[in-house]
Amino acid sequence: MQNDEILFDIPLRDLNSWRVGGVVDQFYFCTDKEKLSYNLQKRNFKLPIMFIGLGSNTLFRDGGFRGTIIAMHKGLNHIKLEDQLFYAESGVSCSKLAKYIARLGYANSAFLAGIPGTLGGALAMNAGCYGSETWDFVDKVLTIDQNGIEHLRKKEEFDIAYRHVENKKNPQEFFIAAWLEFQEGNKEKAELDIKKLLEKRKSTQPLNWPTAGSTFRNPDGHFAAKLIEESGLKGYQIGGAQVSEKHANFIINRGNASASDIENLITYIKAEVFKQTKIILETEIRIIGEKN
Ligand SMILES: Cc1cc2nc3c(=O)[nH]c(=O)nc-3n(C[C@H](O)[C@H](O)[C@H](O)COP(=O)(O)OP(=O)(O)OC[C@H]3O[C@@H](n4cnc5c(N)ncnc54)[C@H](O)[C@@H]3O)c2cc1C
Repeated sequence: MQNDEILFDIPLRDLNSWRVGGVVDQFYFCTDKEKLSYNLQKRNFKLPIMFIGLGSNTLFRDGGFRGTIIAMHKGLNHIKLEDQLFYAESGVSCSKLAKYIARLGYANSAFLAGIPGTLGGALAMNAGCYGSETWDFVDKVLTIDQNGIEHLRKKEEFDIAYRHVENKKNPQEFFIAAWLEFQEGNKEKAELDIKKLLEKRKSTQPLNWPTAGSTFRNPDGHFAAKLIEESGLKGYQIGGAQVSEKHANFIINRGNASASDIENLITYIKAEVFKQTKIILETEIRIIGEKN
């Protein structure tokens, strides 16, 4: 079995959509699942191990990550329709998956089209929008543990909620692939739904800036964006990090933001929204690594 290369001291800013962060000690691009399994068994990856997709929901701190990051998006991107289920590997981008499903004439994949991450990230986050979530469509998943052992897991083996997914058997497993069920529909309508959704996103989200999408979860009965806007924070800036003028739940990197600028802005928004509304905002994005 041929080994893939393990890289050292890799800048995290190249691995996330905010374009910030220090360096990761060890880094490995997964190119296929047999090699991944072999490497997890035989190579002494520095712990902790974190799997990432396209880093579109992750804030890597300026002090970097003292462990190993395994990235899925260059390999593991096979999709096929088998026995009425879509089998997709976790490195497949959500937009590619949505378009593939629509092209074969199956309905309701549009929500995935605007999520700029991988299927692995969408499974980990239960990513969703406009009333649909990833796990609504999951039949079963293939995971791998830190020892390189694969597990076929049913949906019932997970606790699933709004932007929350927990493996009840072993929280230390990572997603390799999933089988997804979509209803047969009309190809033209499915493709039009995707087009409309992408147009809507373009008009409501600051897609030309580095961002990680919605920074905060929507509190019960509220929209985080509305609370932030009503607290007068649109456009508020700390260093190079700014609350988007277009969508108040998005923080954009105006070009020279550090991860600390973004984290300080997150802390400021939480404090200000609480002061004005007595509502506690919780982050949707995941904050990883060491402070400087
Ligand atoms: C412009 C923009 C719009 C967005 N819109 C939406 C939206 O509408 N709805 C929504 O839900 N999100 C949205 N997001 C956030 C983000 O795209 C989603 O959360 C997406 O699912 C993250 O995928 P990723 O591959 O980038 O994950 P990453 O950021 O790489 O990882 C996110 C988390 O998942 C874990 N993870 C990644 N891959 C695996 C794996 N294979 N196995 C186990 N764990 C894994 C990581 O460890 C991390 O904790 C948006 C982001 C942006 C930038």
